[in-house]
Amino acid sequence: MTSRNDSYTLYGTSLSRGRAYGLALQFDEDAHVLEPKLLPHDESREDALNRLDTAFDRTRKQLNELMSHGSERFEDVIELVFRAHLLMLDDEMFGGRIRKLAGEGLTPERAVTDTIEDLAGSIADAGHTLTAEKAEDVRDLGYRLLSNLAADPPTRAFVAGKIVLLEHVFPSELLRLAIDGAAGLVLMEVAVTAHLSILSHSLGVPVLATSWGSVRNISDGTPLLLDGNTGRLEVLADADAVNLSSSKPDEEIATDSLHGIDQPAGSRETVESLTAEGSVKVLASVNILADALAAVDSADGIGLYRSEFPFIIRKGLLDEQTQYHIYRHIVTMFSGREVTLRTADIGGDKILEDESAEANPFLGVRGIRFSLANRPMFRDQLRAMLRAGDGADLRIMLPMVSTVEEVLEARAELDRCLAELAAEQTPHNTEPKLGAMIEIPSAAVGADEIAAETDFLSIGMNDLVMYMLAVDRTNARLTEHYRTYHPVIVRTVAAIADSATNAGIPFSVCGEAAADPLLLPFYVGLGAGAVSVAPEQIGDVRRRIASLDIDSCRDLADHVRTVRTVQEMDIALSTMAPREAGRTGAK
Ligand code: PEP
Ligand code: MG
Repeated sequence: MTSRNDSYTLYGTSLSRGRAYGLALQFDEDAHVLEPKLLPHDESREDALNRLDTAFDRTRKQLNELMSHGSERFEDVIELVFRAHLLMLDDEMFGGRIRKLAGEGLTPERAVTDTIEDLAGSIADAGHTLTAEKAEDVRDLGYRLLSNLAADPPTRAFVAGKIVLLEHVFPSELLRLAIDGAAGLVLMEVAVTAHLSILSHSLGVPVLATSWGSVRNISDGTPLLLDGNTGRLEVLADADAVNLSSSKPDEEIATDSLHGIDQPAGSRETVESLTAEGSVKVLASVNILADALAAVDSADGIGLYRSEFPFIIRKGLLDEQTQYHIYRHIVTMFSGREVTLRTADIGGDKILEDESAEANPFLGVRGIRFSLANRPMFRDQLRAMLRAGDGADLRIMLPMVSTVEEVLEARAELDRCLAELAAEQTPHNTEPKLGAMIEIPSAAVGADEIAAETDFLSIGMNDLVMYMLAVDRTNARLTEHYRTYHPVIVRTVAAIADSATNAGIPFSVCGEAAADPLLLPFYVGLGAGAVSVAPEQIGDVRRRIASLDIDSCRDLADHVRTVRTVQEMDIALSTMAPREAGRTGAK
């Protein structure tokens, strides 16, 4: 148990910036929701069945209300998550089974808990990550139903305003906690996959990953100050908590957690990103709708829309129409600006398929390989993107391209979709640009061939660094080895830029290192047409680019090609360092 006499600080890896103050909540759903609901009820069978009907009605109403009146920022996620719950509620396997068991004489609570455990248990027994995540969905809906069986169901989610401490978490759960109003999240010894890490950025609340087992001992109700900017969790003694809350009201601190979401840092109108000879666009990397909203006033467009997120949130494939609505919303929001929709990067640890338990998933069926191996899914996605891009400056981008053949196959599929839509007279974008991400060593070496077959290239620094240096981007223990400014990486990026320039097509840079203040002059000097960065970084990146002199950037880009060691590179890049420039760590 935590002593309330002394405050102390724990450190971790920040996955999402912002600061929040709130009371601790150990997130153990069973303890919080199941236990009190299992009290025996002394009621007639008829009353019990009526109570169950009422709980179903309340649940249905809540889900519908969540979908129609939920937060605009999470509209896409809410629709994907709760639409599935609504369907499950009336499914024979779930709702039907609960009613049957209650009809046979179990209390409504027992009928629900038995169904949750049987169903979630049999799903989770399949043993894959995805199925385990689906089991969480069953539990989530079950708990909602249980809460609604109470005479006086809680009106607010019990996580609202709390700093939630979790031992394991799925991406969709992370979203649900943010939607339910959690002030901040602390992940205890959680394996932080690429998607968990990427998604954390989009939540608008601070998220900290820590390996401190002692977090488990923090009692519920302990006052905590979570600082996602510095990676610190302050466990506060009562006296300090009182001081803090009297000097800075909860709401004021809580709203810190929205920095970068509600405040477009550096609007397009106020700061021009002009260098001496031209402009480098500052585009937004978008995971969910919340990012698009955060960037709409400040970004020159979208440089990377990670289209796999809707699949991951739904935990399965999506039909063309569902995808169309999601993409159209984002495309319309950025009307008049370029929008790059990346086809789904599924695989690696961005898991979707139950069957895809591969011994070496990072070298398995991932990205464009997955799409080419699942043609109906690929076609649905391309058609949805083409339809959503009607009248827009649409770019379709292929992830994890390893050879030019994949580009040729993808282009053939795109052409088939274009012909099909034209024959059907379905409105669509007739001239989409097709681009490839260069993030695998073979694609970097083969960039000339790929550039000859595409309309643009985008250098994906997160994966390029991982695959070139053989350093897992998700392994916090390897941060020291994950060097975005390694001479080999720098030379490779320069060579990719040459391939694009020689082919007469533009290139951009994305991934965490795209916003690195030390690398920005290098990208500018190479002639990058754009960088794509997280919404909260747009203002800083725009200001940094505006401060650069193009000739110095070109000199730097020439010089760093000849640098041989990390130490020399450090010195070379530092010559153009802004004050307080930082390094990019593992991603
Ligand atoms: C990258 O690899 O740099 C990238 C932007 O893609 P993701 O992070 O989605 O793999
Ligand atoms: Mg990538």
